[in-house]
Amino acid sequence: MYDIVIIGGGIVGLSTALQLKQAYPHKRMVVLEKEQGPARHQSGHNSGVIHAGVYYAPGSLKARFCLEGNRATRAFCERHDVAYKRCGKLLVATSAEEVARLRTLGQRIAANGLENTWLAPGELAEREPHIRGEAGIFVPASGIVDYAAVARAMAAEFARLGGEIRYGAAVVGLEERSAEVVATTSAGSFSARYLVSCAGLYADRIIRLLGKNPGFTVCPFRGEYFALAERKSEIVSHLIYPVPDPAMPFLGVHLTPMIDGRITVGPNAVLALSREGYRRRDVSPRDTGEMLTHPGVLKMLARHVKPGLFELKNSLYKRGYLARVQAYCPSLELEDLTPYPAGVRAQAVADDGRLMGDFVFVNTARTVNVGNAPSPAATSALPIGAHIVEQLKARLDG
Ligand SMILES: Cc1cc2nc3c(=O)[nH]c(=O)nc-3n(C[C@H](O)[C@H](O)[C@H](O)COP(=O)(O)OP(=O)(O)OC[C@H]3O[C@@H](n4cnc5c(N)ncnc54)[C@H](O)[C@@H]3O)c2cc1C
Repeated sequence: MYDIVIIGGGIVGLSTALQLKQAYPHKRMVVLEKEQGPARHQSGHNSGVIHAGVYYAPGSLKARFCLEGNRATRAFCERHDVAYKRCGKLLVATSAEEVARLRTLGQRIAANGLENTWLAPGELAEREPHIRGEAGIFVPASGIVDYAAVARAMAAEFARLGGEIRYGAAVVGLEERSAEVVATTSAGSFSARYLVSCAGLYADRIIRLLGKNPGFTVCPFRGEYFALAERKSEIVSHLIYPVPDPAMPFLGVHLTPMIDGRITVGPNAVLALSREGYRRRDVSPRDTGEMLTHPGVLKMLARHVKPGLFELKNSLYKRGYLARVQAYCPSLELEDLTPYPAGVRAQAVADDGRLMGDFVFVNTARTVNVGNAPSPAATSALPIGAHIVEQLKARLDG
């Protein structure tokens, strides 16, 4: 019998497991992960940005955890020798309409207490000679890191403190009883006094296994990237972001210097037909069927027909994809875009069709479940874990 079972060996599950072990060194804990190693899904397929907290509504969990997470991630990297860089981020407006939206975003950046500088076109070109725009905002606190390396360091530290990690253990059944929770997996059964789930793309299914209706379903949105050819790998030195479309929860195709020296272009956001659909041809009849019969997903699709078709067109048509980047980096050409692996985002869609923006937790007497942890959950993984420790404290100490 364990004290705590944690489902999910992504960065959120591992951060939670580590902080639980640090708070309760003598309690028995096990992480159950269906893959053969840590960070094989979202935590290992992302842009690697340590977000500063630019976009999020003041007072939301995202704003709080991202601001704290920016500092906590850097401190964790320092302590565990994980490479990171505080390279700063430039938001670029390319039309009068975007300048107006950038001004509004500037107010939010200030409300979140972030240092920032407004840039006129000349100042923009001075900082980044290959970038063109009508105006920009520079935010120095944004940085870059390899989140898979952060997750591996968390797993190693958890194991060093005596925590167990079972890879290849897919949870297929859950039973919550009065004094314990039993997880049935492909590698045997595990009982514990408490259970935490951080299952990313399967978050809703874990909640349903507990017999609870989460009130949302997880939709997979594939984010397709390109890497710039080596001859262009020094074209920018900061993160370069467009002004986001306020109707969409995603940030738009950006130029991202990676910690390994490459620069990626992306990601777009295309509805995937499989929860782990990294390639266009990946189709899961179960996942597709569930989405297309969910009333919330149908409403969401109806509401976002135009941006959805725009994303799909540019996914199939490389020139369209390139045009989005050329709007602010005109010297890029088709042959500069080389293949790079895609990622798949877990995005909760509420039963009423809303794309759920904030982090969501669903609790039962013996469980805490992360229901929605989209970007910037990698940046925010340490505060999310600390929040879960807080939620379990009264029960563990009682
Ligand atoms: C394209 C893309 C770009 C992004 N860019 C950024 C960024 O720059 N900065 C940022 O902060 N965030 C970014 N994000 C978001 C961030 O990567 C995720 O929010 C974060 O990694 C979520 O971590 P997680 O641990 O919740 O999920 P995951 O990493 O997906 O981990 C969940 C784990 O649970 C396991 N699991 C699921 N079901 C079961 C089961 N039944 N039994 C056992 N194990 C199970 C899975 O195998 C998986 O390992 C991006 C995401 C994507 C996809």
